Amino acid sequence: MNALAATNRNFKLAARLLGLDAKLEKSLLIPFREIKVECTIPKDNGSLASFIGFRVQHDNARGPMKGGIRYHPEVDLDEVNALAQLMTWKTAIANIPYGGAKGGIGCNPGELSISELERLTRVFTQKIHDLIGIHTDVPAPDMGTNAQTMAWILDEYSKFHGYSPAVVTGKPIDLGGSLGREAATGRGVLFATEALLKEYGMDISGQRFAIQGYGNVGSWAAQLIHEKGGKIIAVSDITGAIKNGKGIDIPSLLKHVKENHGVQGFTNADPIDPNSILVEDCDILIPAALGGVINRENANEIKAKFIIEAANHPTDPEADEILSKKGAVILPDIYANSGGVTVSYFEWVQNIQGFMWNEEKVNNELRTYMTRSFKDVKEMCKTHNCDLRMGAFTLGLNRVARATLLRGWEA
Ligand code: GLU
Repeated sequence: MNALAATNRNFKLAARLLGLDAKLEKSLLIPFREIKVECTIPKDNGSLASFIGFRVQHDNARGPMKGGIRYHPEVDLDEVNALAQLMTWKTAIANIPYGGAKGGIGCNPGELSISELERLTRVFTQKIHDLIGIHTDVPAPDMGTNAQTMAWILDEYSKFHGYSPAVVTGKPIDLGGSLGREAATGRGVLFATEALLKEYGMDISGQRFAIQGYGNVGSWAAQLIHEKGGKIIAVSDITGAIKNGKGIDIPSLLKHVKENHGVQGFTNADPIDPNSILVEDCDILIPAALGGVINRENANEIKAKFIIEAANHPTDPEADEILSKKGAVILPDIYANSGGVTVSYFEWVQNIQGFMWNEEKVNNELRTYMTRSFKDVKEMCKTHNCDLRMGAFTLGLNRVARATLLRGWEA
């Protein structure tokens, strides 16, 4: 099932649980605006290359639309639509004053030089600059983009509109980025996992984790979980996968990854088949890479009791059913990975206030937000007698529906 079909399916199940009016349901589902632009750049060798960029603005009932920009070969309009919709529910669950959006360019950033990436980012910004803005739509990093990408967008946008640091989040600290933003999604995953385990009278210490993806989210999650006494027994990234049943030494692995650009070749662990990472014998599985990786092909083989969705849309609805029958507990993406956008909100607030917070304040506020939204999700699970995914979806939908009704439709 593709990402959009899966997301729409979850949306419809939640709308039914809430008993949403059919017209309201339709209006919440259809995106506010879909933007598709062609971006041609000269490559370093003088030849031309052209790429398709997207920005889908899904909903703005609760505030400016918010969401990352992804550079990946598989980016297409359906995927961006699904991810934009997920941002709408994610910001509502976190109870931050935003709607949802997502952008992306179909490209392989690993095959582009830094100057090609800069040109591509600037051309993309030129094509969408009049449709984004501090109070309309605020981009951020996602897969394949980072703080440097945000710096180029900020610079290009500022040529048209004057210097506006709050137009993007996830910026470098020197340009108004927030302390703690880089680690925020991983730290949010830690807080979310702690909140879930507490329900079962458990904590992180001594639990065995497998993590798929060792980019920004996976590596920060691994580091913070390791600090709390969790045992990371297997990790994977695009270069390969490694395993050490006694627990991988995460500080050494971080050093290895910095020097070798991937987990492959790390000496203090055994190489394993990257496809087996999801079915490793562990207590807690953290998919922190691509969408759709947990599906009917592998769901039955998964051994973890808890699945923490650090990636966006890692679990197919068919796998959801299989896993719930097996008694696995899934902490859904729209809650579990909301730490990133929550600290994006803190960054935006700091930019607008012109006042910088210290890292301790950022992290403490993040913990407060993550803990509170977990309680809110659980409350919805009780009200609607549903699992955590539907608890999260109904919470998000209900908040957006209320805002939409309050704003009204009068022309
Ligand atoms: N790309 C991240 C996400 O999927 C962060 C979005 C943001 O900070 O706006 O949640």
